[in-house]
Amino acid sequence: MHNRKLILSLKDINSNKKGNIAAIFSLSNGYMGIQASDPITGANDVGTLVNGFFEYSPITYGEPAAFYPKNNQTIVSVPSLRKIRLLDENNHSFNFSELKNISLDLSNGQLTEVYEVSNQGGEKIEMTVASAIDQKKLAFYGIKFSFKPISYQGKLVVDKHYKIERKNNDGVGEVEDPRKTRLVKSISKHIISSDDFREVIKIETKESQQSVTIEGYSTSEKMLTKRALKTGFDITYIYKVSEGVKNKGVSIEQNSFDKIKEHSHKFWEDVWNQSEVTVSGNDEINLALHFNIFQLNQATGRDGKTNIAAKGLTGSGYEGHTFWDTEMYMLPYFIYTNPEFARNLLIYRYHTLTFARKRAKELGIKHGALFAWRSINGEETSAYYPASTAAYHINGDIAYAIGKYYEATDDDDFMEKYGFEILLETARFWREFGSWTEKGGKKQFEFLTVTGPDEYTAMVDNNYFTNRMAENNLKLAYTVGLRLAKSNQKVFDRLNSSESELREFHHIADNIYFPMNAQYQINAQDDSFFSKPVWPFNKTPKTKYPLLLHYHPLNIYRYQVNKQADTILADFLFPETITDSQLRREFEYYETITTHDSSLSRSIFSAVAARMGKVNHAYRYFTDTVRLDLTDLQGNTEDGLHLANLGGSWLDVVQGFAGMQVSSQGLLKIIPHLPAEWDSFQIRLAFKKRLLDIVIDKSQTQIVLLSGDPMEIVINQSQQTLTKIIKINN
Ligand code: BGC
Repeated sequence: MHNRKLILSLKDINSNKKGNIAAIFSLSNGYMGIQASDPITGANDVGTLVNGFFEYSPITYGEPAAFYPKNNQTIVSVPSLRKIRLLDENNHSFNFSELKNISLDLSNGQLTEVYEVSNQGGEKIEMTVASAIDQKKLAFYGIKFSFKPISYQGKLVVDKHYKIERKNNDGVGEVEDPRKTRLVKSISKHIISSDDFREVIKIETKESQQSVTIEGYSTSEKMLTKRALKTGFDITYIYKVSEGVKNKGVSIEQNSFDKIKEHSHKFWEDVWNQSEVTVSGNDEINLALHFNIFQLNQATGRDGKTNIAAKGLTGSGYEGHTFWDTEMYMLPYFIYTNPEFARNLLIYRYHTLTFARKRAKELGIKHGALFAWRSINGEETSAYYPASTAAYHINGDIAYAIGKYYEATDDDDFMEKYGFEILLETARFWREFGSWTEKGGKKQFEFLTVTGPDEYTAMVDNNYFTNRMAENNLKLAYTVGLRLAKSNQKVFDRLNSSESELREFHHIADNIYFPMNAQYQINAQDDSFFSKPVWPFNKTPKTKYPLLLHYHPLNIYRYQVNKQADTILADFLFPETITDSQLRREFEYYETITTHDSSLSRSIFSAVAARMGKVNHAYRYFTDTVRLDLTDLQGNTEDGLHLANLGGSWLDVVQGFAGMQVSSQGLLKIIPHLPAEWDSFQIRLAFKKRLLDIVIDKSQTQIVLLSGDPMEIVINQSQQTLTKIIKINN
């Protein structure tokens, strides 16, 4: 962070909607998330979100069919740790509040808010709220309220108790906005104990049988304090949120606000040291980029049992579900900056293999596994199969991420214990799911009735992206399997595989069919794509976007129209499969029919445009991407941040503008494309146990090996040995 503080405050965001502020300034640590909601009014507060804490509710189908998922999974909001009640000397509440300023210090994770709070009679006090979440002892959160007189100096009653009746309290206190997520009615809340200095409450789910305990503790005054305001006073509270048996380690008195702040500061120092991305010449973009990386780190489950929800822990949109977003958009950042986090995210998938095997069987595939399209615990929960279960590419996405992780880390231990089993089970799925057919006198392997990434096209044959992912998955199982068979036969035996099975995978991969469009000489999104008319874009007013909110899915499905990058995403992931001239044609074609109605789209168009050398074009997509939540570009930031897009902005800088790729020989390649608007930019990358610092400016590219052994590296097509520092003219 160039040793200077980066602080996000109100002036840096375009929309001051309370819900947006609450999501953007939220604090989380992969375990729990706390929105920056107004502590007085509680407006827009979704409470505290605990990663993996969810409740089931039955899915009701008008017309059920075999093996449809039976249950919804909804992340449960546990009570807010921030809500406070203030009363004046006549016991009237100070219940009007106005946010004067809010600032999030990205260098240490401290959030500071200043509110002007008033009572019915218009008497005012100032309330400053300082808070931090513990990034080491993940169960802890500290919050300090400082009260100062403005036009009121009398007695102030500060009450931090939860207002929960002692009996079960079904269905109360879930999220505030029923449009955005399901209201779960089978939650009970009890006060376990409550005295002057401490309160303990327990939240239990009936169907999933999970529980969370919240302990609140006041370190200075009582939980209910009465004091004359005079010149002002402070009260600090510490909270401990433990799920089931987790985080029992540290008792609440052993922690303090100072320690929480210290743990948080240390964590962020390490993050920035390891994954610096600095843009010089545009402060607004530099700040946005740091914010995105900050929130990406905050959202990530670190225990191998939890993952990253599409909205992280910043909101309850998408019910707290994890999608392919993790592997395709967020994992690259961790693979190349913090492999330990990446490993844990992949281990989460490993722990869901039992569900995935069961799901494959339910779809008639006896051997292999099919991962859930959207889920919290790994069990498929989507009621709309055309845009969920049919998105079989999830298997290939996870396999791709495992391949990339392994390529960047050589982590054999991971591969032997977890990775290979996933590669094998997903490859087995493709083998049985696909079919041999004859096309033009040639036997080919096809995948029928699938949905690719573009959710405006569903249930088609041979989606190009899916077929590429399956090919890669089968080849990975083959190469990794052969390697393991040589070095550790036991792993191979345990999984009941054989060299002939691996060879079969390879044979299938070699014969996968890829649809081409002869007229434009480009990869066809699928077999039927070009037989459809193009969506009538010129007759579609701006107000009708996103299309999904205004047109029946079948209306959309019969046209050529993309919600998001699909074939272009395949081109981004497999650059060696396409020539420059075809890429140019392909980009131009698909760009004209893409709406970017999904936030997972623009970042890919940016990265591919940068690779093509269309840097100005790339930059336009990038500016939308990097500030997408700060400008509320999709109009729904209040439901939570768009985590995949946050990861996408990192992809754009590193894999777009710095042109980072790994060659087929496993060498790191850098092909710089500095945007004209920037003076320079700096990135840090972890690769095969090295830490690199790369600075690209208008005249040269400088690479410094900060730690690790010398390595071979390719810059602008020329291979070099990096021992300490390399400087090359651009
Ligand atoms: C996108 C999916 C994505 C999901 C969650 C949808 O709008 O089309 O690709 O996985 O959002 O972010």
